[in-house]
Amino acid sequence: MAPEKEIIFRSKLPDIYIPKHLPLHSYCFENISTFNNRPCLIDGATGVVHTYADVELTSRKVASAFHQHGINKGDVIMILLPNSPEFVYSFFGASYLGAVSTMANPFFTSAEIIKQAKASNAKIIVTQASHVPKIKEYAAENSIKIVCIDSAPEGCLHFTELVSGDETKLPEVEISSDDVVALPYSSGTTGLPKGVMLTHKGLVTSVAQQVDGENPNLWIHSEDVLMCVLPLFHIYSLNSILLCGLRAGAAILIMQKFDIVPFLELIEKYKVTIGPFVPPIVLAIANNEEVVDKYDLSSMRTVMSGAAPLGKELEDMVRRKFTNAKLGQGYGMTEAGPVLAMCLAFAKEPYEIKSGACGTVVRNAEMKIVDPETGLSLPRNQRGEICIRGDQIMKGYLNDPESTKTTIDSDGWLHTGDIGLIDDDDELFIVDRLKELIKYKGFQVAPAELEALLLTHPQISDVAVVPMVNEAAGEVPVAFVVKTKDSSVTEDDIKQFVHKQVVFYKRINRVFFIDTIPKSPAGKILRKELRAKLAAGVPN
Ligand code: AMP
Repeated sequence: MAPEKEIIFRSKLPDIYIPKHLPLHSYCFENISTFNNRPCLIDGATGVVHTYADVELTSRKVASAFHQHGINKGDVIMILLPNSPEFVYSFFGASYLGAVSTMANPFFTSAEIIKQAKASNAKIIVTQASHVPKIKEYAAENSIKIVCIDSAPEGCLHFTELVSGDETKLPEVEISSDDVVALPYSSGTTGLPKGVMLTHKGLVTSVAQQVDGENPNLWIHSEDVLMCVLPLFHIYSLNSILLCGLRAGAAILIMQKFDIVPFLELIEKYKVTIGPFVPPIVLAIANNEEVVDKYDLSSMRTVMSGAAPLGKELEDMVRRKFTNAKLGQGYGMTEAGPVLAMCLAFAKEPYEIKSGACGTVVRNAEMKIVDPETGLSLPRNQRGEICIRGDQIMKGYLNDPESTKTTIDSDGWLHTGDIGLIDDDDELFIVDRLKELIKYKGFQVAPAELEALLLTHPQISDVAVVPMVNEAAGEVPVAFVVKTKDSSVTEDDIKQFVHKQVVFYKRINRVFFIDTIPKSPAGKILRKELRAKLAAGVPN
């Protein structure tokens, strides 16, 4: 029997030329002569403005200094920083050398940082002095250099030493488009966090899909000011704010952390035009209407929400508060590079969009919706697993061919683990999640990681961690626990046990004791059953 013809969806916008041969830094700074003296990075805390010329030159100086400190093509540096100009210099410093940046949340615990530093084989860690105690011993034992951006505790370098690097000594490096440039960590559809290998070609393609061409998905011009409050260690911010902003020659306003008043002050002061946000930021705006109303937010022309679902009520609120702004969603997944779909309301010649849609597939890419049971692609309006194919997706997981094979099939389709449908107007709606992942305010929580940790507790014999709906965070992790015989362990004991060992958003919110964890004959946790229990009302 002849194989069924696949049903493939593409963007309404025409494909464009993408200069995939360029290394990421050359692509981002390709038009720099036009923007040279324009503001590139604005430090929201200090008001210091770094021009495009400054940022490009400083990045090359840092590259040269990294090289002097032993970094070569293919080596990994770890960026353990909040949003800051130094984050940007470190990222591009590595890129110029054909080296790789692995980014991590600076609030990770020592164990979490070391796990990633070890797995990625990072040779330099760029961080702040307050995080040094968490990594000092590991760094000393493994001859890893620590660079601090604020001060230099004993044994660490100060970032100013890197900035005074000699850019004329930058080695000539041949970078191939398939070389890895960024290595964020993600648990994908199952298991523990893994290194996601994003290449020069992948990121160039993803950025081009968003901002290049006559009528880009995300229209940014050099007069724009982008709010960069989402953490750059997450690929959403790194790609759709930093890299897209640089390519377009816009100014990027850096905020280290979200706080409603300074956030509103900065929007008003710098006349921010583009706000890439996540639903919890939108929720904070909704919950602080009185404060919000004191500020002039009329400069905003684009409000984009991504990383997690945005409800209709929040959408309506955004429309009321940002009266001049187009509102829409984007849909990303780290492994997809990350943008799969973006709302066409942000295009230069915008399309009408529907509430709740998370965009249409990006240009130069293919999307299909697959029946998880049969593997067949489905027509419009039918729910199935969202799959994407194109040059923007990851090369694979670092040192993990098995997980790579289960995520990217032999025809090059990346399986997202998200359930969605595409309607008659090409708009994509995400309706469910097949995969294990929990998203707390857009941050990833991998159930497998918490389960492995909980199983080290002497009074726990089995456990499953699943998401529970939560208004402020979207989802929080909760644990179903089987106690060992005669155990007297309490919910609080278990929460405390986890609390000490993980970053704040991975903390267990509730513990439910249960006799057995439901499993398939093959031993897979039947998470759907546990989620259904929660949906039916919190179990006692
Ligand atoms: P991450 O790799 O951390 O970016 O997480 C990717 C996952 O976040 C996706 O696979 C989705 O499950 C979820 N996600 C991202 N954007 C959206 C959105 N606009 N609506 C609903 N879920 C989303």
